Amino acid sequence: MIGLISATAAGAAARDRLAAAWPDRTRVYEGPVGEAVRAAFAECEQLVCFLATGAVVRLIAPLLGDKTADPGVVCVDEGVRFAVSLVGGHGGGANELAREVGESLGAEPVVTTATDAVGLPGLDTLGFPYEGSVAVVSRALLDGEPVALEAEVPWPLPPLPASAQGSYTVRLTDRAVEPGEREVILRPPSLVVGVGASKGAPAEEVLGLVEDALREAGLSVRSVAELATVDAKSQEPGIVAAAERLGVPLVTYPAGELAAVEVPNPSGAPLAAVGTPSVAEAAALVRGGELLVPKRKSERADGLPAMATCAVVRRPGRGRLAVVGLGPGARDLLTPRAAEELRRASVLVGLDQYVDQIRDLLRPGTRILESGLGAEEERARTAVAEARLGHAVALIGSGDAGVYAMASPALAEASDDIDVVGVPGVTAALAAGAILGAPLGHDHVSISLSDLHTPWEVIERRVRAAAEADLVVTFYNPRSRGRDWQLPKALAVLAEHREPTTPVGVVRNASRPDESSRVTTLAGLDPATVDMMTVVTVGNTATRNIAGRMVTPRGYRWQEGAR
Ligand code: SAH
Repeated sequence: MIGLISATAAGAAARDRLAAAWPDRTRVYEGPVGEAVRAAFAECEQLVCFLATGAVVRLIAPLLGDKTADPGVVCVDEGVRFAVSLVGGHGGGANELAREVGESLGAEPVVTTATDAVGLPGLDTLGFPYEGSVAVVSRALLDGEPVALEAEVPWPLPPLPASAQGSYTVRLTDRAVEPGEREVILRPPSLVVGVGASKGAPAEEVLGLVEDALREAGLSVRSVAELATVDAKSQEPGIVAAAERLGVPLVTYPAGELAAVEVPNPSGAPLAAVGTPSVAEAAALVRGGELLVPKRKSERADGLPAMATCAVVRRPGRGRLAVVGLGPGARDLLTPRAAEELRRASVLVGLDQYVDQIRDLLRPGTRILESGLGAEEERARTAVAEARLGHAVALIGSGDAGVYAMASPALAEASDDIDVVGVPGVTAALAAGAILGAPLGHDHVSISLSDLHTPWEVIERRVRAAAEADLVVTFYNPRSRGRDWQLPKALAVLAEHREPTTPVGVVRNASRPDESSRVTTLAGLDPATVDMMTVVTVGNTATRNIAGRMVTPRGYRWQEGAR
């Protein structure tokens, strides 16, 4: 819950706007400000104070305890110009909250935590449990001192400007090692613990067994991602309680699926009881990985037969491939989500000219694999191969990366051992449409005139079909030095079904510094003025040039009288 506190009328007005925007997340604290702040500090995870920073500093100073537990506090000024992350920037989420409040109220977020200001991910915000000297190592990263990144387990991390050797270390490991003085240990969720238990096995016995197994194998309990067992044991109280106490989910599988897993230590007892020769080992191994602790049984002080079994598997890190559309060119047409994905990736793959477009958005330490025109196959392969190694990869393309671009060749190479996310971008047809007016107001298609990978007969057949179907057509790749007859030919096919006066829009370098556009007609278009930086949009039989803009009617009845 976010506590909201204000003192003045202006503050209360802004407070009410925020409360209305986030009704389920916020609670308003009224009454004297001092008491309100104290109550909110005790009861809420976060505070937004519509008060001067000085006043808030004085009020919360006596309440501050530990930065891992204190609420995050954001201050908003009288004029609602700034949302200042005051304390708890990382742990309390105040930096993120300042950004959100800024977005909601139209205020500028002010973040002074050094790692955020210079674009480094805070080591404590990477989403992993961590141990060691976050402050010391963060300062070293900021000061540009050599920091070694030792990833014992491949995992999709954002970039850290780390070197192979250094007097400071960031170590990603699931082994139960203690951090050194100048070291931060990040715990990846890489361990799966398979468990089996006979009916009524006590929680202590299950939990004790799991903890012993991890300790003796030298593994950290903080890297346990989940407990896994057979469906029939999904309600077994001892197992459910053990998962709860470890703070991890319990995942269960059908006996048939577990029976098909090859394990080193099958036995007859579980086969008779639940229908699979292995529960612990099979449930741990069913999604792949390396068996670190083979099946072991619990030990009972009273000498009675063991009631629980467990096995531990290290699962392979899943790489992440983000296919990111950068939009047509202008920075403000690149989506915030695209920018976020670029900052999240440790490896960036793309055409050199597109990389130049967004280089300033990348975090220091991002590995850039750029290549020239024509190396599509290599780019697709590289991006997928890097993701398979467990990295966080961004594959970029202009406009939308799925439109005549890299998404399809990359995904054709990818298998289900990596995660894939797509970020849509403003494709050239849309960027051009907005410049021309409203040419895409009714059914429309895009057709690429490049016959490099598509035989011309196929392209021409599609143009003809679009002409017959009276679709608005946007031509991508309309003309290049070596390909000059295709556009006139395509326009001639359209002209068989459309008047010579049909509006045609030509947009070159949409949203780039040297953007140009014009609206002409089917008869009036000079193909020589079109090149590879251009899209050409041909109207349908209803498209009109109205006040110099291309308008394709929606066909509303109420507009018929106007025509
Ligand atoms: N993925 C891109 C298209 C790649 S095909 C997208 O979604 O926009 C390359 C063709 O797209 C170019 O030949 C040109 O026809 C068109 N194009 C791309 N960006 C453009 C821009 N900013 N202005 C005009 N046309 C553009």
